[in-house]
This record gives sequence, structure tokens and C-alpha cells, in this order.
Amino acid sequence: MDFRLDEEQQALRESVRDFAREVVAPVIGEHYENHTFPYEVVRQMGKMGLFGLPFPEEHGGMGGDYFALCLALEELARVDSSVAITLEAAVSLGAMPIHRFGTAEQKERWLPKLLSGEALAGFGLTEPGTGSDAGGTQTRAVLDGDEWVINGSKAFITNSGTDITALVTVTAVTGTKPDGSKELSTIIVPSGTPGFTVAPGYSKVGWNASDTHELTFDDCRVPAANLLGERGRGFAQFLRILDEGRIAIAALAVGLAQGCVDESIKYAKERQAFGQPIGNYQAIQFKIADMELKAHTARLAYYDAAARMLAGEPFKRQAAIAKLHASTVAVDNAREATQIHGGYGFMNEYPVARFWRDSKILEIGEGTSEVQRMIIARDLGM
Ligand SMILES: Cc1cc2nc3c(=O)[nH]c(=O)nc-3n(C[C@H](O)[C@H](O)[C@H](O)COP(=O)(O)OP(=O)(O)OC[C@H]3O[C@@H](n4cnc5c(N)ncnc54)[C@H](O)[C@@H]3O)c2cc1C
Repeated sequence: MDFRLDEEQQALRESVRDFAREVVAPVIGEHYENHTFPYEVVRQMGKMGLFGLPFPEEHGGMGGDYFALCLALEELARVDSSVAITLEAAVSLGAMPIHRFGTAEQKERWLPKLLSGEALAGFGLTEPGTGSDAGGTQTRAVLDGDEWVINGSKAFITNSGTDITALVTVTAVTGTKPDGSKELSTIIVPSGTPGFTVAPGYSKVGWNASDTHELTFDDCRVPAANLLGERGRGFAQFLRILDEGRIAIAALAVGLAQGCVDESIKYAKERQAFGQPIGNYQAIQFKIADMELKAHTARLAYYDAAARMLAGEPFKRQAAIAKLHASTVAVDNAREATQIHGGYGFMNEYPVARFWRDSKILEIGEGTSEVQRMIIARDLGM
């Protein structure tokens, strides 16, 4: 039982930490204000090998594991969540389904570009009318000769409309099962396919330097060979992808929570009130101590979930616990960090303002907190 990082993991953490401080921090505020996608940062993350972290070397990956990805996400989110979610969605939602379920041809065609960060992929599960209840999917795909004809729409899809987005994997109803339930399958739709339209980016509360769009499919035709994995396995596929993704989101949330601690300590040592730094007051010290406690326990929760996953053990409940706890902690710490910064915490030029705006979505994306509780309760036999 040992959660200490080995030398390689420590080196990865240090290099991503330096990158976040030296490359991301100086430019991200402007991207956030202007709602622009940080292409140059993404290009450099690609050069560092971050998009290939948990993939085998065969297709251009770094030969690491999912925990390595989580360590990188934590360090990025400690400085900025838009950049971290771009990496998280690109790897765990974009490339991972192709790696896990794709044919040899699909892997060969798509993975080298996705793993180098030269291209991004989106994962289209959520629809305007249904999110938590993914079984309510309305998008349909009908086989017509050797082509799928897709009709429907998807909502809030990350990385789906950048200049370097190569494809979106889309879940669609492809038939009815013998028991009368919907047959769901996953299909690869390359960017630029006629009938596939990407709406302008949303106006969001946070994650303003990340890319999110509504997508529509209007008699959109793709080759039958674009089916990802087996027909009818769409539901099982996205459950697996989301279970893993929750550990990654937990790591991202821990990074944000820790970033709140970092910024609060710095500010509390500088800001004077009543003749001394506010950090001298126990009320402020206790807030920071509680924030550190929360970040630390949430980190242990995601380390535990990742360790179980990598050991090939069941990890659904632990991933849900990690995601639920870490996202709650991120919101708590963002609120307290803003409080410690007083009026300056409400000014966009301070990183804590970004942390505050970026924290809430962590309780919603890749399964809401209510959904995490449902998963935990179900796993407890209820
Ligand atoms: C910025 C952003 C990026 C995103 N990126 C992606 C992406 O890349 N790909 C993708 O597929 N999706 C993406 N999403 C979608 C996200 O995963 C969904 O928003 C989320 O799963 C919740 O679904 P919903 O918004 O439809 O809410 P709903 O499912 O409508 O839920 C509304 C509320 O009802 C609650 N609720 C629902 N059912 C129950 C129940 N049975 N019991 C108790 N409470 C319940 C929910 O917890 C929530 O509080 C993204 C969303 C955002 C905002």
C-alpha cells in the first residue's frame, strides 16, 4: 500500500508543472477573456507527448498509463482548467474510444494524429434533450447499402469545432434489441462530412478557452466501416469510457482545488489588513488548512480509483466517489479562495476568478453529482 510517486511519475509531474507555469500561465488569461482556443499551447503539449501519455508506442503513444494522464491533468488544472479539459477530452473521450474499440484500420488512420496532438477528436453522447439519461438518445443511424445515414443532434461537445478537429465519435440508435430496448452504436464522423454541421461556440460561464459546440447531422453519410467496435455495443462502450473519464475529471478537479490553495497562500502573505498580512489571522489560516485537507483527500480518492483500474479490478464505485468528492472540493476551494482574495477575487485578472468560474462545471460534466451518487448507491446494492 503505497501512494508515493516513483521517479518517472515525479519527473512527469515536474515537467508539466513547469510547462503550466511558464507556458500556460502567461497567455491563458487573454485567451479566456477573448474566448479563443490556445492553439500554440496545444501544439506544445503535443510536442511534449501529453496527448499520447496513456497509449502504447505502436501508434505514437508514450507507453505510459492512465494515471500518468491524471498526473498531467492535475498539474495543468492547477494553473488552468480550459487547457486541462482540452487534454482530458482529447485523450479520454477523443482518442481512447478508438484505441479501445477501433479496428486496426481505424487505429492506423486516426491514432497517430490524435496522439501527437496534431488533431483532436470529440465524443458526442449528450443531446439537447438528454444528458444524464443517455439511454434516451434520439440520434438515429440507418444502414443504407454500405453507408450509415445519420440524423439528429448532439449538445455541448468538447473539442468538436477547432481548426484541428479531425472527427467526432457519435452515439446513435441503430435499431431495436429483441427485448424492445434501443440498440445503440458508436460511429466515427470525420470533420467536414456533408450533412455534419458544427454550430458556433456556446457562450459559457467558464472553460472559456476550451472548445464546445452543438452538432447537427442531417442525412449525414459515412462508410459502414466507420462503425466503432461492435454494432449494439454503444451503451457498454460509453459506460466504460465515462468510468475512466471520471478519474481524469477528478484529477482535474484536484488540480483546481490545489491551485486555489497555491494562490490563497501567496495572496494571504502579501495582502495587509489591520497592520499585518491577512495570513497572520487564524481565520484565514484555518480556511487554507481546510482547503489543503480537501485537496489532499480528493487526491487520495483518485489515486485509489486509478490504482484499482490499472490493477484490472472493479473501479466504478471508486471512480464515482473520486469524481463526486473532487468536484465538490473544487467548488468549495474556489469559493474560499475567492473569499480570501476579497474584492480582487472578483476581478478576472486574478486566477482565482477563473477557478471560481471553472469549478461549477466539474459537478456537472461526465456525470452530474446526482449521477455519481446513483452509481455509488447502485454499487452498494441499492
Ligand atoms: C462545457 C461542457 C462540456 C461538455 N462536454 C461534453 C462532451 O464532450 N461530450 C458529451 O457527450 N457531453 C458533454 N457535456 C455534457 C455533460 O456531460 C452533460 O451536461 C451532463 O452529463 C448532464 O446532462 P444534462 O446537461 O443533460 O443534464 P440533465 O441530465 O438534464 O440533468 C439536469 C439535472 O437533473 C438531475 N437528474 C437527472 N436525472 C436524475 C435522477 N434520476 N435523479 C436525480 N437527479 C437527476 C441532474 O443531476 C441535474 O442536476 C458537456 C457539458 C458542458 C457544460
